[in-house]
Amino acid sequence: MAVFDHIPMGEEGLKEIYQWLDDWVAKNKGIVHKEVIGKSPDHWDIPAVFITNENVPNDDKQIAVVTLGRHGQELGTRMVGPEIVRYLCSSDAEEIRKTQVVIVVPVVNPEGFVLNKFESSMTSLTKTERLVLGGLFKAFPPDMMMDFHSLGKSAGSKYDRGDMEVIIPANTTTWAMDEQIHQYIAGEMKKVAESEGWPYEIHTLEDLATYYFGDTQIGNMPWTYLKEKVYLLHMQDFYDHYHIPEEDLYTNYTCGPAYLKWHTLVFGMETNHYALSQAGDIGLSGLTPCSALLKMGCTRMPWEKDVGYPVNILHGDFRISIRPLGRKVSERRASRIRIWNERKNFNLPQREMVDQETTIARVRYFGWDLPMEFALCLRMRQNNIKSVTTRSKEVQFETFKDHCSTYVYIPTVMEKAGTIEFAIKHSYQ
Ligand SMILES: [Zn+2]
Repeated sequence: MAVFDHIPMGEEGLKEIYQWLDDWVAKNKGIVHKEVIGKSPDHWDIPAVFITNENVPNDDKQIAVVTLGRHGQELGTRMVGPEIVRYLCSSDAEEIRKTQVVIVVPVVNPEGFVLNKFESSMTSLTKTERLVLGGLFKAFPPDMMMDFHSLGKSAGSKYDRGDMEVIIPANTTTWAMDEQIHQYIAGEMKKVAESEGWPYEIHTLEDLATYYFGDTQIGNMPWTYLKEKVYLLHMQDFYDHYHIPEEDLYTNYTCGPAYLKWHTLVFGMETNHYALSQAGDIGLSGLTPCSALLKMGCTRMPWEKDVGYPVNILHGDFRISIRPLGRKVSERRASRIRIWNERKNFNLPQREMVDQETTIARVRYFGWDLPMEFALCLRMRQNNIKSVTTRSKEVQFETFKDHCSTYVYIPTVMEKAGTIEFAIKHSYQ
């Protein structure tokens, strides 16, 4: 049974959802609390619901944010927010609450909700969103963020109207391995959704732009498609920092700037309020990929050193990468954000296997944020890593494994700009 078996509409509908949230929070004290994080231009509260195990310090937890309802007429999002909040308080979500602070903003745009109108922007965050989300993220910079939208009869693909539900690896880039990682995670979400009976598709942001901006006439499709395929990633607003008033650049999803600013794992979601004719089904089909992603945040990806969202390859690739440092989750987040914002001041790290038992790795940092602390991480086919040295001095390192290889993780500090070289001694095979 879904929380809402009808679509709440108008002022009464908004009050109905807010009342449900208040009742739910009152019934689940110790797990969930609510904060009003801002007001809409017409003075409605914008509440955020925080769900976490309050006995575990927040420093040991990741931050996951789910926003919904930024486009007022996208009715499907209305049932999904409460459904996610209810799920997060269930026993199935115990591990999520232990390892994450999950923040759900069920109605980002109450004004649009009441009017049942778009009342938003496809090209940038609105002033309200900048203020409200900017304030929230100052205290809680997200490690993962997803933003729910909803397609209907007229909004959808130019070639497939009325019936799609979509997971969108949106507002990411091809930097490091990000495109591949976002696609991998989207694939896992899709698998879970399909196993529950919800046929989601995966489309990139470029594909989505084609639905909206492409010409409806079939003959014009290839040109528009090709143009936007290469163009779109370059027109994101790099300076859309949630609080700086910039205009006219593409931010359909609230999570876009979070990737650019904090290397957050970001997804857009499109549920469907036309094809899913039962309101309850919309809530449940929206919840499924969301809970799948939140659960993945409690596991260790094969290429990651620690449990959590895969956001730590900041430069390079799976073979050789620059990664954050820190024992606590909050330390790693701070380190990640610092290195990510300096990523253009690193050369692509290099590796060279000079003989069967020796690999040399080099990093060049030419920025000013000194001393620069990071870890260099290499994926090795050899099982046995004997030593790591720099300037003939042995240095500490850690190892972790995936199913067929060993990762060497070398923490380091560069006191001044320049190149640092490591020699890794390993077994013959
Ligand atoms: Zn939308």
